Amino acid sequence: MKKIKDKEFVPFITAEAIDTRLQEMGTKISVDFKEDNPVILGVLNGAFMFLSDLAKYISIPAEISFIKVSSYQGTSSTGNVKELIGLDAELKGRKVIVIEDIIDTGLSMTHLLKKLEINQPSQISIVTLLFKPEALKHELEIDYVGFEIPNKFVVGYGLDYDGFGRNLPEIYQLK
Ligand code: 5GP
Ligand code: MG
Ligand code: MG
Repeated sequence: MKKIKDKEFVPFITAEAIDTRLQEMGTKISVDFKEDNPVILGVLNGAFMFLSDLAKYISIPAEISFIKVSSYQGTSSTGNVKELIGLDAELKGRKVIVIEDIIDTGLSMTHLLKKLEINQPSQISIVTLLFKPEALKHELEIDYVGFEIPNKFVVGYGLDYDGFGRNLPEIYQLK
């Protein structure tokens, strides 16, 4: 059991299970993009830990950068998507791999894709550590999913509850 602010969380995905899955994902991405010099874009803040660990299992040349777009407060989606900030990589004609912590309703990713497409990449692939299929409201093709999870709020391993819990090495679920 883990108390974060006013809420109680129970262990859900261990650090070992995450690491095993990241090895598989990194290996697959390395095979799929071996000729491409892709641009890997981590979506801050949630994906910081996922991308830093996943990147160690990506064995091909790749440019890594981070962007920020925010749509979430507390434990439910606000639907309020802010602007994309920090895009410094040249995307035109390149294969882009977007790295997210979690896809819930899919709203944030839908907006992000629209913003990225303005830069005319040749392809955009989506990687997410966690995916809640029951919560999805927007049509999205997700290329790499770490874990499909039930529609319950989770924290840890980059994911926060009101800014806290991101540093936890494993994932917890709301009790
Ligand atoms: P969406 O736009 O897909 O509904 O939500 C995506 C964003 O909401 C994620 O990038 C993440 O920041 C946040 N989010 C969605 N579900 C959860 C969850 O269970 N826990 C946490 N901590 N954040 C979530
Ligand atoms: Mg996110
Ligand atoms: Mg958040």
